[in-house]
Amino acid sequence: MKIEIMEIPRYVIAGQNATEQLPQIFSNAKIGKKGLIITGKNKTRKIAENKVIPNLKGITDVEIHKISHKLTYSILNDVFEEVKNQKFDFVVSVGGGSIIDAGKVISSWMNVPFISYPTSPAHDGISSPAISFLLREEIKKHNTERAKVIRSPLMIIADADIIANAPYRLFAAGFGDMIAKFTAVMDWRLAQRLRNEDYSEYAAAMSLMSAKIVYKNRKIITGGGVAAARILIKALIGSGVSMSIAGSSRPASGAEHLFSHAIDLLSQKYDFKPALHGEQCGVGAIVSAYLHGINWRKIQKALKEVKAPTNAKELGIKSEYIIEALTMAHTIRKNRYTILGDKGISRDAAEAALRATEIID
Ligand code: ZN
Repeated sequence: MKIEIMEIPRYVIAGQNATEQLPQIFSNAKIGKKGLIITGKNKTRKIAENKVIPNLKGITDVEIHKISHKLTYSILNDVFEEVKNQKFDFVVSVGGGSIIDAGKVISSWMNVPFISYPTSPAHDGISSPAISFLLREEIKKHNTERAKVIRSPLMIIADADIIANAPYRLFAAGFGDMIAKFTAVMDWRLAQRLRNEDYSEYAAAMSLMSAKIVYKNRKIITGGGVAAARILIKALIGSGVSMSIAGSSRPASGAEHLFSHAIDLLSQKYDFKPALHGEQCGVGAIVSAYLHGINWRKIQKALKEVKAPTNAKELGIKSEYIIEALTMAHTIRKNRYTILGDKGISRDAAEAALRATEIID
């Protein structure tokens, strides 16, 4: 049997009042005396200062580092250079997507444990070894080794009371990222059948479970608040762990993710504002389901129910860019075989598929 190495988060503290469990978990976990907290400048900083730090008093010393939302390689490098000799034992990120990414990257470069404290449920980066596509590409451009070492969190603290206060749009985006696992796993199975790619039944089942949890509970998600936060947290953590088990984002990312990454790339080329990751992946899942020949209406309907975008207009992106994104999606990650095949989808076929699924008019 082939050796498999899995790096899975060791502590997951999820639910209401999760933050209050910190003193005990930190004492038990013995992860060190000195921590670096990475957070944003406004709302997330207040959460760090008023909620997280008081719960760590007396257990560990922390130093706070505020970063802006627009992450670049040079910002990350500056923070790393500043903190690398300060002997931090661990890094905690308190914030949304880019704050989580920053902590994950810097802790990996420092080779110390990472603790993820998400303040929103917008995607599964809170619990996985993955970071934003554009940021990973930028790190790779500067230093491929530095892109390779990025690891999963050791600990995830998902406080439903905190996450419940995130804007509803981020809930709908998280739903989109999770519903996309239906097509991601179909792509993985296809790659196993056509390319004999390694396939983990266990990781696939876990990823699918995340999609099923949000699908089944979509009415609760629509209501927002603590109940919605709890459902999404469960799904996001499951999906993140499925990636840890597989050792790649394979179980959680197929053609619909490539489509979203392609939109992100085009947004730089043509200088437009992309939508949120989960929003783009949700729309990608509609057209991917269509190409797989499964019931795409079911995905479209579920997205509509949670008030997530289902077409170009609702994404706020021109049809022209959506078509181009779909035709170039197969070029984004050469080794990721999906329903788009090696040659991708022709322009005519892309337009037809996007029209058939009501993504463009
Ligand atoms: Zn995703």
